[in-house]
Amino acid sequence: MKIRSKLAYLFAVIVASLLLGFSIGIYYLSDGYRKNEFSERLREKAVTTARLLFEANEQISPQTLKLINDQDVSVLDNEDITVYDENGTIIYKNNSEPQSINRKILSKLNKKNELLLREGDREIIYFQQKEKNKTITVIVSAIDTYGITKLNFLMVILFFGWALSVIIIIITGWIFAGNALAPISDVIHQVEQIDFSTLDKRVKAGNEKDEIAQLAETFNRMLVRLQKSFYIQKSFVANASHELRTPLTIIRGQVEVALMHQRNSEEYKSILNSVLEDVKEMSELANELLDMAQASSDISTLPFKTARIDELILQAKSDLIKKKSNYNIVVNFIEAPDDEKFFELNVDERLLKNAFINLMENGCKFSSDHQVQVNIFFREKNIFLKFSDKGIGISNADLQFIFEPFFRSENVKSFPGHGIGLPLTKKIIDLHGGEIEIESVLKEGTTFSILLPRADDLVEDTYSKPLEM
Ligand code: ADP
Repeated sequence: MKIRSKLAYLFAVIVASLLLGFSIGIYYLSDGYRKNEFSERLREKAVTTARLLFEANEQISPQTLKLINDQDVSVLDNEDITVYDENGTIIYKNNSEPQSINRKILSKLNKKNELLLREGDREIIYFQQKEKNKTITVIVSAIDTYGITKLNFLMVILFFGWALSVIIIIITGWIFAGNALAPISDVIHQVEQIDFSTLDKRVKAGNEKDEIAQLAETFNRMLVRLQKSFYIQKSFVANASHELRTPLTIIRGQVEVALMHQRNSEEYKSILNSVLEDVKEMSELANELLDMAQASSDISTLPFKTARIDELILQAKSDLIKKKSNYNIVVNFIEAPDDEKFFELNVDERLLKNAFINLMENGCKFSSDHQVQVNIFFREKNIFLKFSDKGIGISNADLQFIFEPFFRSENVKSFPGHGIGLPLTKKIIDLHGGEIEIESVLKEGTTFSILLPRADDLVEDTYSKPLEM
């Protein structure tokens, strides 16, 4: 069921039930009032009859009473009066058919001198009066034709009034629900117009204060995030293609030049060596891109296991030295504890080792002494690492872009690289629940500080701990 129908239906049911309750209440109150009023009239009749017969029975005979009664303008519809004396003898009746009285009623009358009963449409009052050893019982009954007709008329009015109101409520409820929900339909229509090529569109909603405007605002914020990540992805693919195309163009040029005419083996060897360099660079970039994709994937799919920080750092060092033998990586374990638990981390070994290699390689690459200092500190809840070099440094303006893929500072254009290593390193550290910070001064050096949660520690504890330099 659509919200519009649901609202209209609910509204109609609630108001119709209220009106029905109200109408039933009015009907029963009116009926009660009619009954009271009619009983009062019956009582008056009974009391008057008793008074005339009993108190003044010396002067008024039953015949005279009948005469008086027949002349009475307040005579009730279908009125029957029967009067009994204490012996059960009828002393007066206004009708050929006298009304009977049974023992049960008599015993009730002994306790209470008045009793009201109803038989079909006929209402009856039994009234007993005792005086000077004499008791008379007056039975007056009549039909409240006028009151019942009025009541039936009221019932018809209430029923048709209720039915008409229900119809009006359903129609107005449907219209109001439609009006109230119109902005939602409008938002749905606007959202349907947005696809990946029109992510710059924004949803507009009504008075900009209500819940629908808030929904549109939330949706717009999501669009901004989507647009941003879509842009990042697009530029990432464009940059990656560009970085791969450059060495491919160089390789192609070298091969074409080599094939132009016959060369001696020395020349072929030098060309092949140059091609090999470019291929190595390409394969490094491809590996970094693959790592980037992996580090962006679902954490549960990665092979996390417990590893020792000292082994990871030393492996990273030896892998880098194998590649660049002129690099000098100085590793210091500061106040290393005896308990080996302090060395353990829960990691994807390959990714974290690559992150360390990136930091070591950058430190050596961007400093004239090709040296990087790695200091490892052991804390109760985490392991803290510092990678420091005395290299070219990073300007303050560039620090904010340093973790963006393919970003490279102006002062490193003469160095080889693609600008993927650092963003990848940050992604890997994030993936391990760690933090990374940079401190750098141009032409003096750079320090990368990393905080990693220990294997046996709760991740939350580490997140809450500020990074101390
Ligand atoms: P690459 O080393 O391939 O240029 P990275 O992603 O590793 O790319 O680093 C991105 C940029 O950050 C580098 O181009 C450089 O401008 C800057 N950078 C990173 N590490 C250092 C460092 N130790 N010293 C100076 N600049 C650095």
